[in-house]
Amino acid sequence: MKPIGPIPPEFAAPGALTIAGRSAEDWVAAHGSPVFVYDPAIVATRIATLRAAMPAGLDIHFAIKANPFPPLLAAIAPLVDGLDVASAGELAKAVAVKPASAISFAGPGKRDAELEAAIALGATINVESEGEATRALAIGDRLGIAPRLAVRVNPSFELKGSGMKMGGRPAPFGVDAARVPALVRQIIASGADWCGFHIFAGSQALDTQAIIETQAATVALAAELAEQAGAQPPLVNIGGGFGVPYFAGDTPVDVAAIGAALGRWLHPGTRYAIELGRWLVAECGVYLARIVDRKESGGEIFLVLDGGLHHQLAASGNFGTVVRRNYPVALARDVGGAATETVSIVGPLCTPLDRLADRIAFPRADVGDVVAVFLAGAYGLTASPHDFLGHPKPPEILA
Ligand SMILES: *Cc1c(COP(=O)(O)O)cnc(C)c1O
Repeated sequence: MKPIGPIPPEFAAPGALTIAGRSAEDWVAAHGSPVFVYDPAIVATRIATLRAAMPAGLDIHFAIKANPFPPLLAAIAPLVDGLDVASAGELAKAVAVKPASAISFAGPGKRDAELEAAIALGATINVESEGEATRALAIGDRLGIAPRLAVRVNPSFELKGSGMKMGGRPAPFGVDAARVPALVRQIIASGADWCGFHIFAGSQALDTQAIIETQAATVALAAELAEQAGAQPPLVNIGGGFGVPYFAGDTPVDVAAIGAALGRWLHPGTRYAIELGRWLVAECGVYLARIVDRKESGGEIFLVLDGGLHHQLAASGNFGTVVRRNYPVALARDVGGAATETVSIVGPLCTPLDRLADRIAFPRADVGDVVAVFLAGAYGLTASPHDFLGHPKPPEILA
């Protein structure tokens, strides 16, 4: 038997699972199975918690790739100071709900058409290389618009303990710190609107102390680069990387401790931002799927769902994890119910990878029952291969 991760407190009450006051069974009856349901009230509470913890003058940005579902995005946009996008497609979704001046566009390999869209709209481009800066400046010249350019820095350190490291080594992301001052001077000399620095060192970190140390190093690096460039950055985006507890033994990040430390580090007179994806939205989403078959093989019980890794890849352990561990899952009609057997919960795809829970203790469940997979609000449907095997794309519902 293997453990599951902690069920988010919002959904851990024993008995029938409710999402935004409505039972899981009701959501499935209304919208079919499988289905993603997102509760925007949970996101609003998390943003309020973060605001209360962070020092004044620190902007909060949402990195929309974590969940770009337009109705959820529309609910989040008024609660945050900025949206961070990583493609022209995301840019189009973001400008529908936020002024372009509050949108920044990061990511390697931006094509000319994407740079042009951002410049024409007036969004900030976080340039990832000297070559990209040169192309953006040329496009700005052609359009007769001074482009808004920030420089993404590849720092010489990484966010320790993070699931995905984005700094501290040769990387497709950002300009190596040593070359940044020269690039900033070139951008300013060309007449572009220099918007500051973007420094993002890693993702899915649960070690509060490591986050605090990385942020301190990030703030210091930005000050040093500004000094070398001889220009004050209008905004320093210090990244984020706050993780969420997916697995047994994981504990939440201490945002109050992070906010208190930032309050000591931030330089007065400089504007800062943090950008978070999963920490803001992971908890708000539940993926619901129905049991289609209950079978036994080699003495083990398999509950086969009508949904699987093609919708919720991360729960199968195939999105950014090295060792497969179980996400929190529950029998929707009996959360916290007494376990009577050991089961594996699998999806309908013809691959052994399609396993959402491996040998977990579970109450007796039968064909027709609904299973809930938690923490489905971030890197869910849009981070999963939903065309693989040709099952229909499931609906996403804003509760
Ligand atoms: C993906 C990404 C984020 C969001 O990361 P989370 O782990 O979801 O918080 C933020 N900034 C950049 C530059 C990213 O690429």
